[in-house]
Amino acid sequence: MPSEFALIDAIARRAAARADVVLGIGDDAAILAMPEGRQLVVAMDTLNAGVHFPDDTAPADIGWKALAVNLSDLAAMGAQPAWCTLSLSLPDSDAGWVDGFLNGFLALAALHDVALVGGDTTRGPLSVCVTAHGFVAPDGALRRDGARVGDDVWVTGALGDAAAALVQWRRGGDRDPALRARLERPAPRVAAGVALAPLANAAIDVSDGLLADIGHVCAASGVGAQVELDALPTSPALAAAFDHVRRRALQCSGGDDYELCFTAARRHREALLAIVGNGDLEMTRIGRIVPGSGVVAFDGDGNPWQPPQRGFDHFAG
Ligand code: ADP
Ligand code: MG
Repeated sequence: MPSEFALIDAIARRAAARADVVLGIGDDAAILAMPEGRQLVVAMDTLNAGVHFPDDTAPADIGWKALAVNLSDLAAMGAQPAWCTLSLSLPDSDAGWVDGFLNGFLALAALHDVALVGGDTTRGPLSVCVTAHGFVAPDGALRRDGARVGDDVWVTGALGDAAAALVQWRRGGDRDPALRARLERPAPRVAAGVALAPLANAAIDVSDGLLADIGHVCAASGVGAQVELDALPTSPALAAAFDHVRRRALQCSGGDDYELCFTAARRHREALLAIVGNGDLEMTRIGRIVPGSGVVAFDGDGNPWQPPQRGFDHFAG
């Protein structure tokens, strides 16, 4: 079995460089050069075996997702990612597992020009903790506390696919490959986040379920929100696999979507739709910010609707 140092060596050999990495993996700490006139945005997220992914998930998918959830947090702040660190807790020193893990992790890092600049390697139950670092213009970050009464509520991409894939996995039997890809290889909406930052008032990435996550924005901003269920963007794969009642629950409280949900003044509607025209990522208006507190979802007849379960909470009894 390779030693801790051999594993770290193998990781260091594969990590790509960036001009602003003065000193990367190998010393006691990394040295990084901040671009002038930028604020640093830092996110950290952990994935635990059995909690955040099934025990038999492919190492490359774990690697991809561990970075993706962190880049999604940076995207939700409107930050341009630059660097990351990686803490690996492994039950044993398995060079093949680490290699597979890096195949996914570094593929996503390369897509977004993110350099792996350090980390930690320990023995323990399988767990992966990543930090990601990115830049924003001074006070240009998209925060949760900026939503204003009258704002539109928007969401990128489509909702409910990852939760649908999880349902199919639990059931056993046929699994739709398009839904499965959305669960195992979520695409962090980095370009959208950066493009939105000057236009939006508040943003969050949808990780715990749409209504719960909009609820976080409302609580931070001191406002309420109304969501039109019929407006929720639905992928063809989800529409084919689940009827509209099941679908609604997955889209409202399923989680793991890693889409961006943001609020913006009405006067920015055209500019926001022009961003869509420049890429292939859809943006859909799904509701509005109102006075008061809390999130209310309305069905097509204008009746309020409650999801069977609201958002994911690790510590919920
Ligand atoms: P120290 O004992 O000084 O913390 P380590 O042996 O933990 O040093 O780490 C040596 C170097 O390898 C450091 O630069 C650290 O950032 C890097 N490193 C360790 N584990 C990882 C990892 N899983 N991914 C990336 N870099 C790592
Ligand atoms: Mg260390």
